[in-house]
Amino acid sequence: MAVRVRIAPSPTGNLHIGTARTAVFNWLFARHHQGTFILRVEDTDLERSKSEYTDNIKSGLSWLGLNWDEGPFFQTQRLDLYRQAIQTLLDKGLAYPCYCTSEELEAMRETQKANNQAPRYDNRHRNLSPEEISQFEAEGRKPVIRFKIEDNQQILWHDLIRGTVTWQGSDLGGDMVIARTPDKDSDNFGQPLYNLAVVIDDIDMNISHVIRGEDHIANTAKQILLYQALEAKVPEFAHTPLILNSEGKKLSKRDGVTSIDDFRKMGFTAPALVNYMTLLGWTSPDAEEIFTLEEAATKFSLERVNKAGAKFDWDKLDWLNSQYLHKMSPEELLPLLTPHWQEAGYQFNIDTEKDWLLQLTSLITPSLNRLTDAVKEAGLFFADGITLTEEAQEFMTQEGVKEVLEAVINATKSDLTFQEANDIIKQITKDLKVKKGLVMRSLRVGLTGELHGPDLVQTWLLLNQKALDKTRISSIVNN
Ligand code: GLU
Repeated sequence: MAVRVRIAPSPTGNLHIGTARTAVFNWLFARHHQGTFILRVEDTDLERSKSEYTDNIKSGLSWLGLNWDEGPFFQTQRLDLYRQAIQTLLDKGLAYPCYCTSEELEAMRETQKANNQAPRYDNRHRNLSPEEISQFEAEGRKPVIRFKIEDNQQILWHDLIRGTVTWQGSDLGGDMVIARTPDKDSDNFGQPLYNLAVVIDDIDMNISHVIRGEDHIANTAKQILLYQALEAKVPEFAHTPLILNSEGKKLSKRDGVTSIDDFRKMGFTAPALVNYMTLLGWTSPDAEEIFTLEEAATKFSLERVNKAGAKFDWDKLDWLNSQYLHKMSPEELLPLLTPHWQEAGYQFNIDTEKDWLLQLTSLITPSLNRLTDAVKEAGLFFADGITLTEEAQEFMTQEGVKEVLEAVINATKSDLTFQEANDIIKQITKDLKVKKGLVMRSLRVGLTGELHGPDLVQTWLLLNQKALDKTRISSIVNN
């Protein structure tokens, strides 16, 4: 069987981490089986769908490397197909118009509540007589279309992640709406609803496997009934676990980030993020944790996707991201850092100062977990002046520190080389008869205002190239 899978986002918001993770699993499954990965935009909710969200979803998927083979298809361009299906269901007597008003439905729910019953439609318009229908029409009521769901039936499927799933017909809330009420002057039925459109599309697009979040399980039960009513082949289903926050609740806006854009802005790289999303619910058979999408695809199977919810672990994501950053060359990394430096207001010229920027990148790389860390790590190289930390201020009062720094001012020169810098340090140690550690710490405080930081000689050389070493040390000594 040819594997054909799809990601079917609704463009009612930016690309969400949950949708992106579902896309990852679909993509991996498709690639593993040399199948086809389809992008379908479920935009039938006209009020909430926006084209800017579609753009965001497309660019987010592309950024993550989740390229699709077919689409994007848009449900709003396929309405005729859904109308035909609704007509078929009406002709077969499997669907019917329901004229209940919202007040009637509300009253029904209130009664159910008062009787401690679960809210459901009581199928009251299932068998309207032609006279009753004419009467409602004469009153100017416009119907929704409902699909019949028998209470006394069991729906069962073998989920590729969750095993056998069974659902009682009586737990599906009664006959379900598949088309909204039509516009006032239309004789036709209105906008098709998700459960109908999704089934028609999955049939029409020959979808072999529906891989989606477990929040759709009840929909799957309803959709299987629609496949059967339309005498279509039911695809395989696989329901992926939800992504949970540290409290074990579904990761949501309240956790600060939900969209892929948020993660990008926070300084995560696409390969690291997509790697991390793969680990949210899936474990590689060789327990490997760092891999490209292509590598994961060779090993991916739905059997190794967990049933239990996947806890989102920020430390792990940071660690993974750092692994990717530390492996990158300065040439690869620099273009990813410059936007963050620009945003922070740092002044530099990417053309004339390229060499210096590459050296700076190389110096700070080991301290980066996120790209955004580069703002803090590189800050002192872009600053005009520096301020001493509290411990550095205290250090400055130690005996010998000022003498060391004065000696550095006298010895430094422009275009200092690595060798020369080391020689100066050695010479001062000898001349002033102090420990090398004191010279190093003094120099660091003089150059950076701090007692800790990246490689000292490299730091000095970078500042020296900008003629900042002497002025900085002088300003500190004279303060
Ligand atoms: N539009 C649905 C969603 O975004 C698609 C669910 C499905 O994959 O069938 O949740």
